[in-house]
Amino acid sequence: MFNKKSVRDIDVKGKKVLVRVDFNVPIKEGVVQDDTRIRAALPTIEYLLEQGAAVILFSHLGRPKGGPDPKYSMKPVAEYLAQLMGKPVAFAEDCVGEPAEKAAANLKPGEVLVLENTRFHPEEEKNDLELAKKMAALADIYVNDAFGSAHRAHSSTEGVARFLPAVAGFLMEKEIQYLSQAIENPKRPFVAILGGAKVSDKIGVIKNLLTKADTILIGGGMANTFFKAQGYPVGKSLVEDEVLDLARELIAQGGTKLRLPVDVVIAQSMEEGAETKVVPVGPIPDDWMILDIGPETVASYGKVIANAATVVWNGPMGVFEVSTFAKGTFGIADALAKSNAISIVGGGDSASAVQKSGLAEKITHISTGGGASLEMLEGLFLPGVAALLDK
Ligand code: AMP
Repeated sequence: MFNKKSVRDIDVKGKKVLVRVDFNVPIKEGVVQDDTRIRAALPTIEYLLEQGAAVILFSHLGRPKGGPDPKYSMKPVAEYLAQLMGKPVAFAEDCVGEPAEKAAANLKPGEVLVLENTRFHPEEEKNDLELAKKMAALADIYVNDAFGSAHRAHSSTEGVARFLPAVAGFLMEKEIQYLSQAIENPKRPFVAILGGAKVSDKIGVIKNLLTKADTILIGGGMANTFFKAQGYPVGKSLVEDEVLDLARELIAQGGTKLRLPVDVVIAQSMEEGAETKVVPVGPIPDDWMILDIGPETVASYGKVIANAATVVWNGPMGVFEVSTFAKGTFGIADALAKSNAISIVGGGDSASAVQKSGLAEKITHISTGGGASLEMLEGLFLPGVAALLDK
């Protein structure tokens, strides 16, 4: 299924290996808040070190505007990695140019170097090939293990692969195997759960999954647009009027495959502890809004999930950041944890909901990439993967 070469297919002994990792982690006052993505890259890093490579890691972090910004420095990440691995990790204050060249030249087999944030160069996001060439000049081999960035054609994810032998890391391989297996060759029944704020972000995903999945369960703010498309006023709920026609088309096309909530939690404000009502789906009063799926919906979606053999989930069922509106999302997480299905949770909010619920180890695979996993569900190819050597 995964037809790209991986680190296993290439001799790295004594070589300098440039590894694009996804170390885009939340940092507060110089302290890493969630190390999931760093830990996820360890198998590749450790394998390369064991094989006698010198390992140069680089990543983007946050969205620095137009140049270096200490707030988005990779230095705390390098320090964190050193602690995690229990060994020194060198750091270079730029991802190209003299600091990087010197540090890379001094690096010996078995040693690790972290380069500064790739987005300190605005050319990175334009997939500038001059920048990519300079990155490539630091090493003998390029490894892409940054699944979370693979849907972007940037200098560090796509351009650089044109100048070096380029292969996948273990995380990249695992992510793509799980997702492509689920989409292309799923054990059935195959159920997709889609939530989150907007339908417009997921139109391509719904269209593609209507041809692949047996059932699609819809929740979150995006359900509101479907309710309005069916003729129900939705009060002051989040709604996308510009895609009402499209929502109607999807309902018609989906038939019984596309399931919408049967009851919802409404409130007049999004505040913690706001007064709530559970109501069947129907006209919502003017100054109320839909903020979660209701208990009947959780129960009926739960039955579908219990009978599924493969489940893919992307997007929360409500405003789960506020505990008053988190029951739907956690109810679905619970149903997924109890089922015997192969369960795959897309990155971002649904992944963090599953972590928060304490049920993460009951899930088959939690993706590290929100955007990248959505693009895979949409059936798109990822430029960061396409650029790697074929097997
Ligand atoms: P997305 O980035 O599209 O996955 O959307 C995630 C966001 O959707 C979260 O921040 C949720 O709070 C928000 N969300 C989910 N359900 C609703 C809703 N019914 N109304 C408004 N926002 C929602």
